[in-house]
Amino acid sequence: MMQTTAVVVGAGHSGLAMSRRLTERSIDHVVLERGEVADSWRTLRWPSLRLLTPNWQTRLPGHDYAGDDPDGYMPAAEVVATLTRYARLISAPVRTATTVQSVRTAPEGFEIVANGDVLRARAVVLATGACILPSIPGVADAVPPSITMLTAFSYRDPGQLPDGGVLVVGASATGVQLAGEIHRSGRPVTLAVGEHVRLPRTYRSRDIFWWLESTGLLAERYDQVDDLTRARHLPSPQLTGTPEAITTDLNTLTALGIRIVGRLGRVVDGVAQFSGSLANTCALADLKMNRFLTRADQWATDTGLDDELPPPHRFAPTRVDPRTPLELDLTSGEVTTVLWATGFGPDHSWLDIPVLDRKGRIRHDGGMVTGAPGLYLLGMPVLRTRASTYIHGAGNDSEALAGHLHCFLGGRHG
Ligand SMILES: Cc1cc2nc3c(=O)[nH]c(=O)nc-3n(C[C@H](O)[C@H](O)[C@H](O)COP(=O)(O)OP(=O)(O)OC[C@H]3O[C@@H](n4cnc5c(N)ncnc54)[C@H](O)[C@@H]3O)c2cc1C
Repeated sequence: MMQTTAVVVGAGHSGLAMSRRLTERSIDHVVLERGEVADSWRTLRWPSLRLLTPNWQTRLPGHDYAGDDPDGYMPAAEVVATLTRYARLISAPVRTATTVQSVRTAPEGFEIVANGDVLRARAVVLATGACILPSIPGVADAVPPSITMLTAFSYRDPGQLPDGGVLVVGASATGVQLAGEIHRSGRPVTLAVGEHVRLPRTYRSRDIFWWLESTGLLAERYDQVDDLTRARHLPSPQLTGTPEAITTDLNTLTALGIRIVGRLGRVVDGVAQFSGSLANTCALADLKMNRFLTRADQWATDTGLDDELPPPHRFAPTRVDPRTPLELDLTSGEVTTVLWATGFGPDHSWLDIPVLDRKGRIRHDGGMVTGAPGLYLLGMPVLRTRASTYIHGAGNDSEALAGHLHCFLGGRHG
């Protein structure tokens, strides 16, 4: 049986950031990865995906973006290359092709079973990703069998779809990007829109992530956020990364010819039924966007930046056609594919420690798992701040948790 001080499960950016923090503290550890470094970006993302965060923000402990396009948006393949380089740079002790099958408590720590081998460690960091499984609503069961169903994980490009119309369900970052891409391939696209977060790509000539970071919004701590459960389950903003830095909101998609309908509620006898509250949903998203822009303007004024930036302005409200259909017959042949862009979730099914709440989520306090001293969680939305949802958030999160882990070990390790 192998013994080490700490085991990190997962070699995405979160696990690598933690590895770097443990090395800084001379804490003996190993990173167990079921695939390769950055495996989610290799196997679970579609090829045309680009980060929606700008390149300058793709920073990890001891590593800032050093390329020649700081304001661009990195394609998935470049994310893989960046993380692979980073793993090498920090000499992360990654064991690839090593699947963790169980983690349970043991005397003086934890017992980890990986590829059938048993390891003992005093601390374990779970960094297996918040977006490892597609979330598909139960209504999918009622979709007629003649319809091809895909998720963002099984989607590669429009060429794999049968001829005919496509219903994209979900209008967050994934849904709006894929609706646009599929529409450009010549297929008629209907986009079912539920609650969403509308943001412009740029505002007053700066990227929206510049504003989110500068105004301090992303630095809001988990214990200061008004409704933490809601914050942790907010849909991703309607943003895409394109070389032209275009805004991909519902008005843009409607102008392209994509049909916008309300949230998919039920499928009855092959007929998809959409919510009639699309106009209200969109008005609420517009309101929240404008509330943030007002905060941004106030911040610019307070910090004396008004003269350096173009003047404040507002974007057109989302246009909703009053004749928007409430039903779509999935047996008519008009639609041949349903693409579920309804979010993602983690997979901790291999965790043999009773730390899950009634909804199957790990109970934790800013990444310190409740009731399991020595067990840590990284890479979850709003784990410690709003930035935790994004790559650059792992810097501060891993620093705080590695510091805690170090104290937990009482300085005795190795
Ligand atoms: C479509 C999409 C777009 C995104 N775009 C952005 C963006 O633009 N900017 C941004 O900052 N963030 C973005 N994110 C959010 C986030 O940064 C990514 O999800 C990122 O991959 C999370 O990194 P991670 O290290 O926490 O998890 P992951 O990258 O998912 O890494 C987890 C690792 O754990 C491994 N693993 C899982 N289970 C086991 C096991 N049992 N044993 C061993 N290994 C295991 C996996 O193979 C994987 O390599 C996006 C997410 C998605 C889904």
